[in-house]
Amino acid sequence: MYTDIKTILSDAAEKNYAVIATSAINMETARGIITAAAEKNAPVIFLLGQNMMRVHAKAELMIPMIRRLAEYANVPVATCLDHGNDPERLMYAFRNGFSSIMYDGSLLPLEGNIRETRHWAETCHTFGMGIEGELGHVGNAAAGDDANEAAYTNASDAAMFARETGVDCLAVAVGTAHGEYPKGLIPHINFDRIRECKEATGGMPLALHGGSGAGDENIVRAVQAGINKINVVTDVFSACRASLLEDLSANPKIGYIDLMSRMEMAAKHFISHWIDLSGSEGKASGFREKNRIYLLSKKESVGDSE
Ligand SMILES: [Zn+2]
Repeated sequence: MYTDIKTILSDAAEKNYAVIATSAINMETARGIITAAAEKNAPVIFLLGQNMMRVHAKAELMIPMIRRLAEYANVPVATCLDHGNDPERLMYAFRNGFSSIMYDGSLLPLEGNIRETRHWAETCHTFGMGIEGELGHVGNAAAGDDANEAAYTNASDAAMFARETGVDCLAVAVGTAHGEYPKGLIPHINFDRIRECKEATGGMPLALHGGSGAGDENIVRAVQAGINKINVVTDVFSACRASLLEDLSANPKIGYIDLMSRMEMAAKHFISHWIDLSGSEGKASGFREKNRIYLLSKKESVGDSE
């Protein structure tokens, strides 16, 4: 079922689990990810970044495909523009059937971030879409930004941000960063800061960006501390790339369909593991229960036409 991040993450926050938010740039990754979610009976979120769509995975093709796969999957699936900050690209997401956006005003001063995020939150909610904002700034792993505590999210600012913007989810900076960490480095996550932000925002769904390479134990503990959305993009692409490299190295004459099918399986296995870490396995059943209220029961559907 195709839905938005508000629907998915409010359930996750209520029941203290997290949902995997990952990315696909083609049919194989999209189908591998949704198959993992369907097999684990877990909700899942697709992230498409502004740049990724500009250079390769156009929303005109990706969103209808993801929506079509979601119809068959029988688990909640949302799409989310990742790190939107260009109004033209935000409108592109609106035009092309995204169910949610993440507006990233994290490099703006607090007042500007609140003002812009509130604007996009109002627009999203008018169209029944979900929205995530970011406070503090999640930087780049290669630059060592994970250790930049000055950029971590301040809990009392988070309370004000949540109240004044009306976002459905808040991305917090607590010790992770985007991309690949330097070899051998496992980031230190400030779990107390997650708990403080959770409490200050009255239990708002919180997102952890930069999940790739953050370490399994860190992810599990982050979920226990209050994280409800885990972004993992770099590592799913790395898993696909590793599958291609391994298969081509082992057998340079491997058929193209076989190669792609095996890459799809690699994406599926990778996401299955992350679903295990997130605690979202089996959680799709609760959504099907809620959705029943929209359907007529057999008895009610017998009309009064006679
Ligand atoms: Zn991010």
